[in-house]
Amino acid sequence: MYSFQYRKAKSLAEAGEVLAKDDEAKPLSGGMTLIPTLKQRLAQPTQLVDIAGLPELAGIDNKNGVLTIGAATRHADVATSKAVQDAIPALACLAAGIGDPQVRNRGTLGGSVANNDPAADYPAAVLALNAKVITTKREIAAADFFQGMFTTALEPGELIVKIAFPLPKAAAYCKFPHPASGYAMAGVFIAQTGDGVRVAVTGAGASGVFRWAEAEQALAKGISAAAIEKLTLAADDINEDIHGTREYRAQLVKVVATRAAAALSGKK
Ligand SMILES: Cc1cc2nc3c(=O)[nH]c(=O)nc-3n(C[C@H](O)[C@H](O)[C@H](O)COP(=O)(O)OP(=O)(O)OC[C@H]3O[C@@H](n4cnc5c(N)ncnc54)[C@H](O)[C@@H]3O)c2cc1C
Repeated sequence: MYSFQYRKAKSLAEAGEVLAKDDEAKPLSGGMTLIPTLKQRLAQPTQLVDIAGLPELAGIDNKNGVLTIGAATRHADVATSKAVQDAIPALACLAAGIGDPQVRNRGTLGGSVANNDPAADYPAAVLALNAKVITTKREIAAADFFQGMFTTALEPGELIVKIAFPLPKAAAYCKFPHPASGYAMAGVFIAQTGDGVRVAVTGAGASGVFRWAEAEQALAKGISAAAIEKLTLAADDINEDIHGTREYRAQLVKVVATRAAAALSGKK
């Protein structure tokens, strides 16, 4: 690990000021991704600005058909929140399946979405639910936020404050987890919204999370596992690594999408 300064921010304004003045400073939330990155010397920030305990980044609120969750909310708190379980049970279920208890008790919603790991779970929910990412500067629609592997619309020094999820009519998430880490080998979030069915896929896209248009069209006629079973996902833009070929992952997407659709049709 390279040496760096550690600074515990007392307010969001203070964190913003430090980050605005120093391009090489980085916000630290749960540290579940950033600390291992530093330990491997893959990043060399001048200072870490700890934002984990900031009250401006806390809170879960269900109002006017929108569930808003503060960026510093830990995965364990999303998983066990009655407000989340009542409003969007699939989101609580997704959070409960992230990593292991240690990761869920440190890692945060904002850290995960800002990091945009191609195998992370939350990006699928944010995209399928057509959520808004609310930052210290603006509101960013999910479709504009995720811009490729580990790349987002966030500008240097811009912090995620909260994420606003419009309540769907119904939703389901299913993933095939990597057996060691829990990260999605393939994960599919299906949301039935006022604007139709949205299907977002994580863990498999060569450029990160993406919407599967054919599945959305098939499910628009009625939610059923059979509707997905008829489809074939082309493997061209699918990720390939030591854990699986692109053809294997494309098939896995179909399998988990079928399971998510079956779960959703059972709820109807
Ligand atoms: C063993 C292990 C297993 C895991 N399994 C899974 C899994 O199954 N599914 C899954 O989705 N994830 C998994 N993760 C990742 C985990 O969810 C992390 O918690 C998450 O990726 C990062 O959140 P964090 O709060 O720890 O962020 P940090 O590590 O603190 O930060 C990550 C990045 O985001 C930036 N950042 C943090 N907060 C903000 C903010 N509010 N605004 C702007 N930028 C910000 C940081 O500067 C940094 O670049 C796993 C991690 C580990 C170590």
